[in-house]
Amino acid sequence: MRRAPAFSVRCAEVVPCPCCGGSLSVIGSRKRKLWEASGEQRLLIVRRLRCVTCRKIHHELPNCIVPYKRYESACVESVVASEPEEIVVAADHSTLYRWRSWFRSQTVHWMGCLESIAIRFTLDVAEESSGPSQTAHHRFGRYVGDAAGWLARIVRPVANSNFWVHTRSAFLSGAR
Ligand SMILES: [Zn+2]
Repeated sequence: MRRAPAFSVRCAEVVPCPCCGGSLSVIGSRKRKLWEASGEQRLLIVRRLRCVTCRKIHHELPNCIVPYKRYESACVESVVASEPEEIVVAADHSTLYRWRSWFRSQTVHWMGCLESIAIRFTLDVAEESSGPSQTAHHRFGRYVGDAAGWLARIVRPVANSNFWVHTRSAFLSGAR
């Protein structure tokens, strides 16, 4: 494995505390390893934030990170949206299979989250296009568009609204 230099992540957007809406102050940083499609690993430095109101600690979520996933968001996105024979991500079969079943299992939950976020912030949402051939990720298009990066555009508002569901225990019982 080639060691790449670490680089710091700074989100341009100011996000309030996902738990209480309080403001977050930077209290440090931590390292986060992230695999790329090529099989290379990057080292990110992600800021640690503490809510000034409820004191909970959060970590900044850049677009390239899906919470609890070791691969960058673009890899996960391409795997869940591609046919198995089209996948070009250097990860083993069980990982790819896990991502696809994870994505399917979260679809209804994320659709509900995006719907409620859209209502809360009175966002304009595109008309739902009907048609029997809609794949799971196309159903998100009315909220996040279908240009590259759509998975990150689902993940950020869901996680930043404290709607993220951590499903690891469903796949690795007892592992921490
Ligand atoms: Zn808080």
